[in-house]
Amino acid sequence: MTRLPDGTMREALIDTAAITENVRHLRRLTESEVIAIVKADGYGHGAVRSAIAALAGGATRLGVADISEAIALRRAGISAPILAWLHAPGASFAEAAALGIELGISSFAQLQAAASAASAERAVAVHLKAETGLGRNGIPPADLPVVFAEAARLERIGKLRVVGIFSHLSNTSDADDRAALARFTDALALAATHGLAPQLRHLAASHAAINLPEARFGCVRLGVTMYGLSPFADRTSADLGLRPAMTLRAAVAAVRRVSAGQGVSYGYTHRAAEETTLALVPLGYADGIPRAASGGAAVRVGGAVFPIAGRIAMDQFVVDVGDLPVAVGDEAVLFGDPTLGMPAVETWADAAGTINYEIVTRIGPRVPRREVAR
Ligand SMILES: *Cc1c(COP(=O)(O)O)cnc(C)c1O
Repeated sequence: MTRLPDGTMREALIDTAAITENVRHLRRLTESEVIAIVKADGYGHGAVRSAIAALAGGATRLGVADISEAIALRRAGISAPILAWLHAPGASFAEAAALGIELGISSFAQLQAAASAASAERAVAVHLKAETGLGRNGIPPADLPVVFAEAARLERIGKLRVVGIFSHLSNTSDADDRAALARFTDALALAATHGLAPQLRHLAASHAAINLPEARFGCVRLGVTMYGLSPFADRTSADLGLRPAMTLRAAVAAVRRVSAGQGVSYGYTHRAAEETTLALVPLGYADGIPRAASGGAAVRVGGAVFPIAGRIAMDQFVVDVGDLPVAVGDEAVLFGDPTLGMPAVETWADAAGTINYEIVTRIGPRVPRREVAR
């Protein structure tokens, strides 16, 4: 039986080689420049290590939501271009500009704030975000003429550099994404009439990068797929040629042989049907293991997969391992690479009524990440 190193209670193994390989594969597949999305601590995998691994796989740029995430990457020594696109109301762009961080611009006010962060030596690099139907941020169509005109003027006087024009899709249906694509194409044509000729145009995230080649524009923003997970309900990681980078595991913390009728965990939602062995796994909802998955998920112990018994608690849950001779310290794997026999993260997502993105991203700070490269 596999055991965890002494003293390790729980850990997420991050296969950085898988991230590198996934990016390499996706770059070939999409024939596009890759902006590697490492927001939310690299979807829970660690932003800095994920960024380094993605750049090693040929990504040329990085993307995050918040400026603070971009600053953290710079402070960690990462010099690749970084785009941040979600800003606090009234945020100052001075520090971002000084660190050469590129700003997603969703309004006239943000455009002015970006220009005011320019210095005599340095124009501020921006990507103008057009709203094309998602209903989140982005410059509304009615404002595009005035924002494009002002951006072109600010570029001419050396305050701004318009590096990109972008938008984001809803992945609702092929028809919806094509309608948004048409709005994006209109926005690009309008930008050209204002004299804007950005180096980059980017619309597709993972879903469209694979599914809608017309949305690639030679540059795609890849998040979930670079971590080896599928954005499609009907296609697995392996179907897409991807390798999941995160394996979540814990050391069995206690083992108990119980008789039929023994209640397990809060509320006794489970009672042992017959004499059996219960193994305690020290991961709970404080660590991002959804309590809602209590009924449906499974854990691999000693080469076989066993159901969760009773409710997932804050710090721990119980697995019914039947007559398996489990010992304290044995490995319990919650999810990993299914081609290696591990439960898929999607098993947990389905059990909790959510998506794979949310499961990996919410693995909490109490779970140490350890880099492995297979
Ligand atoms: C999160 C995000 C992405 C990455 O999406 P994936 O589906 O994970 O590839 C790309 N672009 C924007 C604007 C995002 O917010």
